[in-house]
Amino acid sequence: MKSFDYVRALDTQQATQHASPNSHYIAGGTNLLDLMKHQIETPIKLVDISRLPLTEVEDTPDGGLKIGALVTNSDLAAHPRVIRDYPVLSRALLAGASGQLRNKATTGGNLLQRTRCYYFYAPDSACNKRIPNSGCPAQQGANRMHAILGTSSACIAQHPSDMAVAMRALDAQVLTQKTDGSARQIDLADFYLLPAQQPERENVLEQGELITHVILPPAPKGMQQYQKVRDRASYAFAMLSIALIVDGDAEQIRDIRLAFGGIGSRPWRDPAVEALLIGKKPSIALFQQAADLLLAEAKGSGDNDFKIPLTRRTLTALLQNALLPPAPLPSAPLPSATIQQGDA
Ligand code: SF4
Repeated sequence: MKSFDYVRALDTQQATQHASPNSHYIAGGTNLLDLMKHQIETPIKLVDISRLPLTEVEDTPDGGLKIGALVTNSDLAAHPRVIRDYPVLSRALLAGASGQLRNKATTGGNLLQRTRCYYFYAPDSACNKRIPNSGCPAQQGANRMHAILGTSSACIAQHPSDMAVAMRALDAQVLTQKTDGSARQIDLADFYLLPAQQPERENVLEQGELITHVILPPAPKGMQQYQKVRDRASYAFAMLSIALIVDGDAEQIRDIRLAFGGIGSRPWRDPAVEALLIGKKPSIALFQQAADLLLAEAKGSGDNDFKIPLTRRTLTALLQNALLPPAPLPSAPLPSATIQQGDA
């Protein structure tokens, strides 16, 4: 790790005043310290924001929630209002990382975590995101984890956050403070940039701009689910995840929101897919039509080609379970199972 200066800020004004080119804010450090050890990030100064008074979850006057940027992932997942009104967020948080990491990782830091592309973490490898215009070996290389939507010829990295996927479905907004002291409110829909030809720019934050809060609007009507498909039952990044919020029954889909993780270069939401579903009578054919529309521009790069059929099947099954009555049991009696000695 390269040497750096360290300063601790006690309020947001101090923090933004300490910010300078190639300085970095640090709170939980669960991603940044790894990046520094691999010399992927080499800040000349760390501004410790872990003591800032941004650890509260507050009700907003309109019935929403204002979440401090330093609320840990564990505390947010366990917050009674989140469990009651935003269960998709609680489930997404608990599906991410490990208990130890969730105890340290913060809301603001989670939004800013970097991709887990193998080449991005290999300092000897080319990588357009790490060294602009150096190339993207993932395109022809190991790309099982990589995105199939929103990619470019410069970068096919996937966005790794579970929390951000749920927040995208919930129409979250990000509150920030700039170095000149002004504040701004950014729709999460506009927060992340597509890689295009500048994959090193991942979001719209300006130099030194500090995330202070995330705002959730009042809870949407309907049932909420978070489905994550991954290589093992815990502590693995998503091959695919889906945040579903749906108000409807077997007769009509009155409203629906769908956000996707693991398949997009940013937390993915496609308004056209939701528009196709809203107002319709649910059916397998309709769900397959929605999957076709979602995946119309999807592009596999070899190892990750499987994500296209995986997304189609998982989306169809998730909607079927949420909106259609369970298939009737077969009328013929099931053959009784006989356990032979020696069977496991
Ligand atoms: Fe780098 Fe993006 Fe290519 Fe990965 S996919 S090697 S992060 S440019």
